[in-house]
Order: sequence, then C-alpha cells, then structure tokens
Amino acid sequence: MAEVKLEGVWKIFDGVEAVKDLDLKVRDGEFMVLLGPSGCGKTTTLRIIAGLEEPTKGRIFIGEKLVADAEKGVFIPPKDRDIAMVFQSYALYPHMTVYDNIAFPLKLRKVSKQEIDDRVREVAELLGLTELLKRKPRELSGGQRQRVALGRAIVRKPQVFLMDEPLSNLDAKLRVRMRAELKKLQRQLGVTTVYVTHDQVEAMTMGDRVAVMNFGVLQQVGSPDEVYNRPANVFVGGFIGSPPMNFLEGTVTPDGFISFGAFKLKLLPDQVKALEELGYAGKDVLFGFRPEDVYDALFAQVKIPGENMVRVKVDIVENLGGEKIVHLRVGDLSFIGKFPPESLVKEGQEVDVVFDMKKIHIFDKRSERAIF
Ligand code: ATP
Repeated sequence: MAEVKLEGVWKIFDGVEAVKDLDLKVRDGEFMVLLGPSGCGKTTTLRIIAGLEEPTKGRIFIGEKLVADAEKGVFIPPKDRDIAMVFQSYALYPHMTVYDNIAFPLKLRKVSKQEIDDRVREVAELLGLTELLKRKPRELSGGQRQRVALGRAIVRKPQVFLMDEPLSNLDAKLRVRMRAELKKLQRQLGVTTVYVTHDQVEAMTMGDRVAVMNFGVLQQVGSPDEVYNRPANVFVGGFIGSPPMNFLEGTVTPDGFISFGAFKLKLLPDQVKALEELGYAGKDVLFGFRPEDVYDALFAQVKIPGENMVRVKVDIVENLGGEKIVHLRVGDLSFIGKFPPESLVKEGQEVDVVFDMKKIHIFDKRSERAIF
C-alpha cells in the first residue's frame, strides 16, 4: 500500500491546458474519486499517475518513490510503478480462458506455476469467478467480464489501483450492484485507489473522498458529505446533486434579509453577522439552496410566516413515486423543490413553500466562491 502525491502538476497538449497546477494527496488505502464533466482533465490526471503521460510540470510520488519530475527529467515507466489499471473497456484477451486472463500478469513476471495457481484461485474466490475459470470472455456477461478485469488487476497485489470509468459499459442495474461490490473489495484489500468518473452518484457512493475538477483545475477535495453540504464554489454546488442546487441572485439588506425583488428571506443572526463582517452588507450575492431544502409548507417543521415562507406558483410536478420534483416560480424567478410523495401540490396551483435557512449557501457573485 502507498500514498499517491501530485505536486504542482501541469499537462499541456499543444496549447490545451488539460491539467493546471494540481496538488493532490491520496492517502494510504484511500478510495479517491476524480469527478468532473467531460474534458475536465480527470483521465489525463490518472494517466499521469499511471505513467502513460509525462507531466509538463510538477512531481508525482507513489509511496516514497518519486516516479515523475518534469524539472529533473525523472520518469519511471508504468511497469515499474507497481500500479494496476482497470479501464472502461475491459481489454480481456478473447482467446484466453478466465483463468489465463487473470494469470497473465503473473506469467509475465515469471511467478512460479504453483504460486500462480494459488493466487488465481484466491482472486477467483474473492470475486465469485471460481465456477467460470474455464470459460472464454465471450461466454460471460458484462458484469462477469468486468470482474475478470478486476481480478487481473488485483492478482498482482499492486500498491495502487487506477480505474477509469470501469463500470460505464454496464447496464444501470448491474452498475449499481458492481458499485457496491467494487467498494467492498477495495475495503477488503485496503489498496489505495484512484477512480475516475463523471457520474456523481458513483463518486458519492464509492469515494472516501472526492476530488472535483473543472477545466483542468481542482475545485475541491473532501468527503462526499463535505462536497455536498459545504461546496467550495458555485461549480461544485451545481455539479453535485440531482436535481442540482438552485441559484438566485439576491441582495443582502441592512435589516438582515436577502432580497430577490419578488420576495425576501430573513437570514439567521450568525449569517447576518458573517456577511457584515466580510463586507457583504448591502451587496449582491448568489444564493444557493438544494431542492430538498425548500419544503411544501404543509410538511415543514419550521415555518416563520413572512420570514422563510413564500407563496409560489407550481409550474410542473414530476412524480417519481418516492418523491416529487416540483418546478416552482415567483414572478420571473424559477427554482426546483423536492417534495415528499404525500405532497398534494398540483400544476397551476399557488402554494406556500418554506426555506430551511440553516441549509442555505451564499456565494460571492464575482469569484463564485462560497461565503458559507
Ligand atoms: P472524459 O470524461 O470525456 O474522458 P476527462 O475529464 O477525462 O474527459 P481528459 O481526457 O483528461 O478529460 O481531457 C482533458 C483535456 O485535454 C480535453 O480538452 C482533451 O481534449 C485534452 N486532451 C486529452 N488528451 C489529449 C491528447 N493526447 N492530445 C491533445 N489533447 C488532449
């Protein structure tokens, strides 16, 4: 096992800054997810750790070992980094049996026949592949193939697993199951893992920590709870969560409200204090709140009429069975609420909603950084 450390890493491809000044430390045994939209630089980051790309600038450590240093010209090739990669395409050898596919990395390293046999059977047992060892990849389901690819990665007992969207070729149901299996396996093995995905649910459910990237820049690193409940900026707030966080432009009034023109909400005393201290009194800010933090007033515990209760028009109700996604409007301001299935709101109605002021976020309008 080992920690993985990136220090001031840049990757520039013909003028395209794919990764910009990235500092990231993955702890020993940790499951770190790199999350972000397409093109944000997560795959490039993983390939740099693997040694499939050289950084333009910066240093990479795996354990104590310096594996890349652009300034000093140090570059250790992938095969000497003691890592194993799992890709989206499983890249199994079609003519080989499951047994031989898993055994392959050990054969390359000239491990004895007996030890290969022991290790392959151990891994097959762990992954529930024992009955399938004689089959060829084409005789397996997608999930089984993915498990063989994992088996091939773990059989060598590497220091670090690097995974690039390994579940994205599976159907939705299987993906959910493999998500849990993979997480359990990683816990059992305790191997430091860097996992790339654009799927926020995968990131939130699997990661010990999540590193959110956008345009090659690391936006925030934190536990799933931290990135969800304390987003560092507007991008992270809007990227994580479904439906995403709502944002409204508002003004902090001298009497402790945030005003949106069509309505206003009373800020809590410590929020007023923080905004005053930081010089936001009377200023325009961005107000963020998650759909689940605005309630149908009939189901709300904390109603303070005139302070956090607002009359809104219901535009659309999407009934998902377990919850209702409700598109709401006040004047020309629109936002989304997530109501319980018992909510009786109907399209076209006017209803009262309640904002949970403890859960709101305020961002600087220009820098888009979170104030709280
Ligand atoms: P995706 O989820 O779509 O794979 P990503 O977040 O993994 O996206 P990267 O593949 O790391 O993003 O790409 C980051 C940026 O670098 C993109 O703008 C991409 O076009 C560019 N890029 C990646 N590889 C190369 C390359 N070999 N040559 C030139 N540009 C590249």
